[in-house]
Amino acid sequence: MTYQARPYVLHEASYRQMLDHKPNVAVLPWGATEAHNYHLPHGTDVIEAVGLSEQAAAAAVARGAKCVVLPVIPFGIDHAQLNQVATITMRARTQALVLRDVAESLVRQGIDRLVLVNFHGGNEFKSMVRDVMLDLPILIVVANGFQMADNRKDVLDEQKGDHADEFETSIVMHLTPDWVAPLSTAGDGSTRPSELPALTSTPGVWCTRHWPALTADTGVGNPRRATADKGRRLLARMVELLTEVLVQLSAAKRGQFPFVLAVDDPAPGSSAMQSK
Ligand SMILES: [Zn+2]
Repeated sequence: MTYQARPYVLHEASYRQMLDHKPNVAVLPWGATEAHNYHLPHGTDVIEAVGLSEQAAAAAVARGAKCVVLPVIPFGIDHAQLNQVATITMRARTQALVLRDVAESLVRQGIDRLVLVNFHGGNEFKSMVRDVMLDLPILIVVANGFQMADNRKDVLDEQKGDHADEFETSIVMHLTPDWVAPLSTAGDGSTRPSELPALTSTPGVWCTRHWPALTADTGVGNPRRATADKGRRLLARMVELLTEVLVQLSAAKRGQFPFVLAVDDPAPGSSAMQSK
């Protein structure tokens, strides 16, 4: 057996490796645990978030960046999916506390950059990030993986859908093919039309979708034309883009916009303020 622990994956790395590697960017994959039609694993969002994070970190480290991928947070906001069998939901206020504790742990050890790699549409981090950055000297960047594949139109046949659809099915077929049931067993991911179109189609107007009312098979979007090769092409593009984020962030100097932190502002009336 040869020792193969990757120094940029915290779950695998030894203390000795971390002392030598000295990361300045932490990558936190964040998923959800929920039904994904009849054919995909409940861990689909976790698989996607971890796959993207680890591949981008590997490429960034090869280019000299100092990144470490933290263990994934497997639970997302799934309040509207609790009619299923064993879906787990996590409230936003719990997520905020998790994020705060992770960030504070990092800051105390000199890591002042954190990238959230999110793969669940129900997770929204902007306000949480602003709250944590009000108190702690850390820049938190949010990367929503499901929005990153700008080659999506070229790769996919079916453009509509956002859950267990051709996009997600292709990525999981690429990353963990043994966990995808034959596509003949999948539902078609069709959704119930809105009976209140002013609530669902007005620009700037939003309301949440109660999942069991929306879809019978839990999917949104037809997965039947998914292939592993489509997944490979989509993921490659996301990895390329996230790698660039990690490389720039790791090389950045504090004060270089947008790596400007409110906690670094001098207090009003301080000598640093008066000398300006
Ligand atoms: Zn998903």
